[in-house]
Amino acid sequence: MEKKPYVLPELGYGYKDLEPWISEAQLQLHHQKHHAAYVKGANAILETLDKNRQDGVDGDAKALAKAFSFNAAGLLLHALFWENLAPAANTTAKPTGKFATLIDNEFGSFERFKKEFSQTAASAEGSGWSALVYCRQTNRPLLMQIEKHNTNVIPMFRVLLVLDVWEHAYYLDYKNDRAKYVEAFWNIVNWQEVDNRLGAILK
Ligand code: MN
Repeated sequence: MEKKPYVLPELGYGYKDLEPWISEAQLQLHHQKHHAAYVKGANAILETLDKNRQDGVDGDAKALAKAFSFNAAGLLLHALFWENLAPAANTTAKPTGKFATLIDNEFGSFERFKKEFSQTAASAEGSGWSALVYCRQTNRPLLMQIEKHNTNVIPMFRVLLVLDVWEHAYYLDYKNDRAKYVEAFWNIVNWQEVDNRLGAILK
């Protein structure tokens, strides 16, 4: 099998399509500059590893593995994030399908889930993510905070929904008002995709 580099995935919608919640300029910058930088970063590390192995040179194993984990998690999380967003006109206001039942069983109501997820996002220190994952050991959806991009995504925990709360995700539109951005996020969640992810996990 031929080795392939990482590629920046295309969005499933246009840069303008998440307006007014995320502006064209903000989305374009986030995708084409920030997300692209993690793709480029991960590929550069793979090239360095290849070269070191070819030349029989010892690299800085700690620095390389750390940087790879940062960039690879960054590109993975952004891909998941874009896919769990949708233009407001194409999505429902609330969860649907099995996912809706899962949320009600765990949190009592959608409103309660929304509040806890928003609090998780608001309280992430510095740059990070709010994530709803599904734990296959306990059969429960769980809220997690991800620092920077270095995830706690291990096979037991599968990502259902993520929200990027790095300042680069919202500073053009909301300046430093993260809470306003988090509130806007609820208008453009692709609940169908979230329910599909749950379906794939439970299969
Ligand atoms: Mn980001």
